[in-house]
Amino acid sequence: MSGKDYSWLNVLLVDDSISILTYVSEVLNKVFDITNIFTASSAPEAMQILRQTHNINILFLDLNMPNVDGIQLLEQISKLKYKGYVVIMSGVSIRIISSVELLAKKYELNYIGTLLKPLNEADFYNVIKKIGQPRNKQSKSESLKTYEIIRAIRNDDIEVLYQPQVELFSRSFIGVEALCRMNHPRLGLVSPDRFIDKAEESDLIVHITMAVFKKSMADWKKWHQMGLNIKLSVNASPIALQQPEFTDVLLHLLEQFEMPTEMLCIEVTESVLADNPIQELVNLNRLHMKGVEIALDDFGKENSTVERLQKLPLNYLKLDKSYFIDHKETLGQLSIINTSLSLASKLNIKTVAEGVENSEVMKLVTEIGCDYAQGYYIARPLPAKEIIPWAKNWNSQT
Ligand code: C2E
Ligand code: CA
Ligand code: CA
Repeated sequence: MSGKDYSWLNVLLVDDSISILTYVSEVLNKVFDITNIFTASSAPEAMQILRQTHNINILFLDLNMPNVDGIQLLEQISKLKYKGYVVIMSGVSIRIISSVELLAKKYELNYIGTLLKPLNEADFYNVIKKIGQPRNKQSKSESLKTYEIIRAIRNDDIEVLYQPQVELFSRSFIGVEALCRMNHPRLGLVSPDRFIDKAEESDLIVHITMAVFKKSMADWKKWHQMGLNIKLSVNASPIALQQPEFTDVLLHLLEQFEMPTEMLCIEVTESVLADNPIQELVNLNRLHMKGVEIALDDFGKENSTVERLQKLPLNYLKLDKSYFIDHKETLGQLSIINTSLSLASKLNIKTVAEGVENSEVMKLVTEIGCDYAQGYYIARPLPAKEIIPWAKNWNSQT
């Protein structure tokens, strides 16, 4: 074997045969030193893992599975905009395989080869050697290790920054979104991109989410005592929302910090609707009934559907920042945004434009009828103590 390092790969194996899953895991582990291996014995299980674990970078897929087969799964993962490598494993005829290869290319998947069953180690090597090494950028912002996350939770090193949100019509400051950071002994303040995905692989994310709720509500209380009356939005991971006690814990915190339920907004992503969302829906509906507001985050980032909007008790739709960051592209996407906006208004849902980076985009989102905006043009995420000075400055300019 060459000296290339493959141990950074996060693998998902999909096959309805347990013995194949075991065999492939062993080869990947022994020959390539890969330890992050997820397995799924059906297509729905695979989809759930892909939705919840955003850093899977190689998928080994059996074509012939009962119910939803590998070909249908290819279509589903292309809709998820999965960007990792795809390897097909199959015992079906060569002819079928080559048409599936064409299909994978049509879906713009990063298909790198097929392993014919019965599988053998040498074939694995031929496919895996096609994988490039992670780019510098990726390895620089590589995920933290589980122990680093546990240490941060134990040492209370989870910090919260707040990004202001304004109403476009009146330009008034209406709320903040709480965004977490980790204070790392060697790396300093670390962005959530480097630990949220990892934390979501276990219930560590529940600890982080609850720490953010607690800290941000304590900050909200201080602002309130200083005369600032704004809403607080907090991101809730689907894993936190799956906890049966989530609602009661939050209601208790609201009481503890004397915060009216209407001042809290929970931001969820469409992955809360993955597969079996009963507990998530129970929590969201109970909180909504008590007055807590709900926002659907990152709308438009994945394949968003009307049907989904109607399933959730929603107050806000946050249009994903990718719409607005590249202004030129935005113009081409205006019709998509317009459809979302008119749909939201029919459903009585307010819209928030995220990623507003300059005055042009601020003007554009006002014109197309978004209700609120958030982005670097208005403010970067700020420490709690800078919120009141920022508010004074903002009010003096508008
Ligand atoms: P998000 O919820 O979509 O948060 C918005 C992200 O966009 C933030 O990144 C924010 O700093 C960034 N942003 C805001 N305005 C602009 C802009 O004008 N241009 C650009 N390019 N970016 C802008 P951040 O803080 O790094 O957070 C990244 C993601 O991490 C969040 O995306 C959210 O999914 C997750 N996250 C952050 N805090 C929490 C948390 O407390 N719990 C959970 N579960 N996830 C969190
Ligand atoms: Ca958010
Ligand atoms: Ca977002």
